[in-house]
Amino acid sequence: MHWSKCKFCGTVYPTKKVEVVCKNCKPIDEALFSKIEAYLQQFPHSNAMQIAEGCQISVLEVLQYIDEGRLQLSKGEFKRL
Ligand SMILES: [Zn+2]
Repeated sequence: MHWSKCKFCGTVYPTKKVEVVCKNCKPIDEALFSKIEAYLQQFPHSNAMQIAEGCQISVLEVLQYIDEGRLQLSKGEFKRL
């Protein structure tokens, strides 16, 4: 068993595998990620700063998706996995 900490609300809860978002915040996470996805479809050659600006989220939030393995950064550009 693991203890996971939600990146949105900070709740610590037991999980089978490490998670970064709790059930309650999952919709927020999905909405955020689809925003990024949509932005990358429009501007495929964006860097973290541009994505953050375009989606009005923080750069750290963008980078978090790389840590989570949902986005990939190559040659300074992002790719959807
Ligand atoms: Zn949460």
